[in-house]
Amino acid sequence: MQLIKNFINGEFVESSSQKRFPNINPANNKQIGEVCEAGQEEVDAAVKAAKAALKGPWGKLSLAERMAMLHKIADGINARFDEFLQAECLDTGKPKSLASHIDIPRGAANFKVFADAYKSVPNESFMLDTPDGKGALNYAVRSPKGVIAVISPWNLPLLLMTWKVGPALACGNTVVVKPSEETPRTTTLLGEVMNEVGVPPGVFNVIHGFGPDSAGEFLTQHADVDGITFTGETRTGAAIIKASADEICQVSFELGGKNPAIIFADCDLEKAIEGTTRSAFANCGQVCLGTERVYVERSIFDKFVAGLKDSAQNLQLGAWDDECTSMGPLISQEHKAKVLSYYERAVEEGATVVLGGDVPEMPSELAEGAWVSPTIWTGLPETAAVVKEEIFGPCCHIQPFDTEEQAIEMANDTQYGLAASVWTENTSRAHRVAGQIEAGIVWVNSWFLRDLRTSFGGSKQSGIGREGGVHSLEFYTELKNICVKL
Ligand code: NAD
Repeated sequence: MQLIKNFINGEFVESSSQKRFPNINPANNKQIGEVCEAGQEEVDAAVKAAKAALKGPWGKLSLAERMAMLHKIADGINARFDEFLQAECLDTGKPKSLASHIDIPRGAANFKVFADAYKSVPNESFMLDTPDGKGALNYAVRSPKGVIAVISPWNLPLLLMTWKVGPALACGNTVVVKPSEETPRTTTLLGEVMNEVGVPPGVFNVIHGFGPDSAGEFLTQHADVDGITFTGETRTGAAIIKASADEICQVSFELGGKNPAIIFADCDLEKAIEGTTRSAFANCGQVCLGTERVYVERSIFDKFVAGLKDSAQNLQLGAWDDECTSMGPLISQEHKAKVLSYYERAVEEGATVVLGGDVPEMPSELAEGAWVSPTIWTGLPETAAVVKEEIFGPCCHIQPFDTEEQAIEMANDTQYGLAASVWTENTSRAHRVAGQIEAGIVWVNSWFLRDLRTSFGGSKQSGIGREGGVHSLEFYTELKNICVKL
């Protein structure tokens, strides 16, 4: 059984407390490894190493050398692609068809994208008039923020972690990463790559553990952490703000969602069904940008519901390495219990179960896994818990609407504001509706499509700040204003 260690100052280390927790494969509920849980001592050591590395060889690299290093990290991941793929699929159960197209390539690309984006970002400068007529030059420079705490979730472990580590390193920071306790493997493997490609010790550190009273909380309370970037649940974000309040630490948060899709009668129905099948069920519904609320214009409501049901019925649940598998399990037994409690709640609230709502029958070797059926409901009021709360499972509720205004009102009636999809062939309507949706990203006739140089983040309770492209600079650098009297 593999022992998964912390990675501190370029070395793999166990925890001084000897505390360990099991690493479980959610597809069959079998233990596949043991993870060393970092305590205060390891967190202190990781932050100390990260702080020292800022002034060490890492801080002395030229911009070109640092960006070349990021390219090497990406190449290092790609050189061990199959190992990353297997590690990610064992931790999550997700099908390799998905992880080999999204998680691993995007996990590697995040280093190149940010290195290329930051090679030549201009800073503002102004010539100022002064009474003596000689003027002044007022300009801005950016410097690294310092030690960045990266706290990442389990749904897209490598991709979402490197989405933060990439820009952090590109800007010259050092990082201490706390991956989710459910998915420690790919982050740990990245430690090996960092050593292989020559990233100086202390630049990238990994501590394993949980949130409260464990590595996560110790990290967010640490006095020498200069910024916290976190992706996860909204209520965890609130806990992190409270824990870090005494240190006045800056945060960048990507939080929960309850994302709507609006399907107009003038859409390309086949494409809307195909797109909504992906947005509701991809990664077993465990995508922050996924659709859990679908609003369909009444004249095509029955057709759409029947089409989505047909399409979802074609999803193949199975083992990660089976080429035919298109949907894996949920991440854990605990999450399965949560999702099933919503399946029960939907029925109690009066839903019509169009599809699923139960636990599927799986072959004996997978029978103990965290499997749930893809599920579609109709008939619930907008006030139902299942329509209001983030479930984070392979399920959606479909509601009819009569007017554009009504659809927009229902779509916006949520505390979240992460993402939305609009399906229409009417270009004016597409722009009009997209402009009125309260969300960080709105897709028209698509889903999960984005140039990585554009902004990413949520409004309302879905996040604080924006990451992506030059937008990440705001969090990962300190902007200094210099004014030189001539
Ligand atoms: P989570 O909030 O339970 O955990 C995320 C990370 O935070 C884990 O590493 C966990 O150990 C750590 N953590 C938990 N409590 C903590 C504490 N008190 N202090 C410090 N660290 C703590 O989230 P999850 O269950 O791993 O992921 C699912 C959630 O993430 C969903 O709500 C989903 O919408 C959200 N998510 C959002 C985005 C986005 O970009 N907005 C992307 C992916 C997932």
